[in-house]
Amino acid sequence: MEKLDRDVVIVGAGATGLTAAARLREAGWSVVVVEARDRVGGRLLTDEIDGQMFEVGGQWVSPDQTALLETLDELGLRTYPRYRGGESVYVGRDGDARRFTGDIFPASERTQGEIERLIGILDPLVAQIDVAAPWDHPSATQFDHVSFDAWLREQSDDAEARDNIALFIADAMLTKPAHAFSLLQALLMAASAGSFSNLVDADFILDRRVVGGLQQVPLLLAESLDPGDLRLSQPVRTIEWSDTGATVHTDTLSVSARHVIVAVPPNLYSRIDYSPPLPRLRQQMQQHQSLGLVIKVHATYATPFWRAAGLSGTAFSPYQVVHEAYDNSNYGEERGTLVGFVSDEKADALFRLPAAERKAAILASLASYYGPEALEPAVYYESDWAAEEWTQGAYAASFDLGGLTRYGALQLQPVGAMRFGSSDLAAEGYQHVDGAIRVGRRLAAEVIDASTS
Ligand code: FAD
Repeated sequence: MEKLDRDVVIVGAGATGLTAAARLREAGWSVVVVEARDRVGGRLLTDEIDGQMFEVGGQWVSPDQTALLETLDELGLRTYPRYRGGESVYVGRDGDARRFTGDIFPASERTQGEIERLIGILDPLVAQIDVAAPWDHPSATQFDHVSFDAWLREQSDDAEARDNIALFIADAMLTKPAHAFSLLQALLMAASAGSFSNLVDADFILDRRVVGGLQQVPLLLAESLDPGDLRLSQPVRTIEWSDTGATVHTDTLSVSARHVIVAVPPNLYSRIDYSPPLPRLRQQMQQHQSLGLVIKVHATYATPFWRAAGLSGTAFSPYQVVHEAYDNSNYGEERGTLVGFVSDEKADALFRLPAAERKAAILASLASYYGPEALEPAVYYESDWAAEEWTQGAYAASFDLGGLTRYGALQLQPVGAMRFGSSDLAAEGYQHVDGAIRVGRRLAAEVIDASTS
């Protein structure tokens, strides 16, 4: 058993853990990062499949994500805008594909009016939410006890309007069915993006990509560590902790430190044994947070054929297997790539099919937006984060009904010498890379403050 001694040990080499590591190194602290996988980046993975570069995990950057933008700048990474020339496509309840421009889908006039009315109710509610403490809202308990689906049913009898509003939070963000999370959770998601209207605005929320891929962020941050202080393929099994320090154990390594930062998603906290066990309410809390489920699908073609047909590549439908899709062509490439997403119960249904049937169903869904040319990609790839032992879902973790008010504040508190955090615990940038960077910065600052106070 190899033994190390450092000021801080960080569990997890995702954007959160490596941001904290870089900040602590800058402040002169000794740090070791212990990572279960054989690579850094966690939910960020820029990979090459059959000669084609794909962003298998996180990729988009929006203009309000200032912590991420600052980091990109510091690391010398360039961004480029998502292609958005031409018209978008919406497939309604009747199954017909309709072209449109702007944010509101071309449903019937009544449904469009209802969508706008619901956004008009949601935006002021979202504006009242403090993203750092949504549980402090005067109606937090009430909002946290009703599902987003039940609340939408109280607001409107127009099913297509409700389905479209739900799409932006349920399918597109939390990747859980709208009956599985609370109104408060939905408001937090929207508030972390600035407003509900921002979520609806694909040109805002999915604005830019990083030339060469977003995984470069954790890869470059890892360079702040001394050689030997990034330990890959070392799943942390046990943390022995007290108020003054801790020892972190893998199968072959023990690291003693004054502080531990556990930078893993909350659904994985219980993969680690704690000695002594975590306090009662923390053990309870862990059972109320779970990751959503989404399949991110890439299909690359000889050319971006949809552009020639006057389409932007942006497509939505609550009634399609692929509920949203975009032009995801890489910077400077002649080939064209579409990316589509299959969420929650639709993903469950597709995962029950053999791979060939799943692919056929997904490509048929893309063809309903872009026409039959979409059926014949040169390269095709489905992400499968739920099968990854060290993530177990996508995109991120959220609380079940009532969990946010019951445990939200508790999740931010240290336990002895241990601090926990990931993008799933962020305020601004919640569930996004921007949030991971903010949490990493906060945890590093808390560790530094704790030693000076
Ligand atoms: P993680 O990246 O999950 O890092 C945690 C690390 O801890 C992992 O490396 C894991 O292997 C490790 N670990 C876990 N348990 C242990 C253990 N016991 N011992 C040691 N190591 C352990 N965000 C955006 O901003 N824009 C997007 O477009 C976007 N799209 C996404 C698409 C997909 C398909 C996915 C999956 C995510 C997407 N996200 C997006 C979300 C974003 O990728 C995450 O919020 C962010 O990367 C999380 O970083 P993190 O460091 O907090 O957690």
